[in-house]
Amino acid sequence: MRVGIGYDIHQLCKDRPLILGGIDIPHTHGLDGHSDADALTHAVCDALLGAMNEGDLGRYYPSSDPQYKGMNSLEMLKGVSGKLAERGFRLVNLDTVIIAQGPRLGAFLTDMATCLAKVLGVDADLVSVKVKSGDHIGAIGRLEGIAAQAICLIVSK
Ligand SMILES: [Zn+2]
Repeated sequence: MRVGIGYDIHQLCKDRPLILGGIDIPHTHGLDGHSDADALTHAVCDALLGAMNEGDLGRYYPSSDPQYKGMNSLEMLKGVSGKLAERGFRLVNLDTVIIAQGPRLGAFLTDMATCLAKVLGVDADLVSVKVKSGDHIGAIGRLEGIAAQAICLIVSK
């Protein structure tokens, strides 16, 4: 059995889509980044890669590479999920938390978990997505960005 942890943060800015856990969330601002900047999915990828001791997302999808510009992060997760199967692991469970002062995300959490579980090919019950407000503290509290953390347990098949 192995555990892995992942963390990501992206800046909020105007004229960008807000995508978290593969779900498009209607908002005036979105997350800035080279790909679609889906911080939750990136944290999940890093947790899974960390559990396999396979580095992080930057090793496979470097932001310096123009071919990954605007990339759908679910494609990255699909790649990481393939690596998990290749290495003979299966996901036991995945727990995540988004840290965002705004917008309100509560109504989208089930859709995010379902979407991530679908890409990972597991039962939706194995994926948990939670949200915490920034409590008006620091950069996240000032709505400058959104962060996400993920932890997973994997086991050899
Ligand atoms: Zn990211």
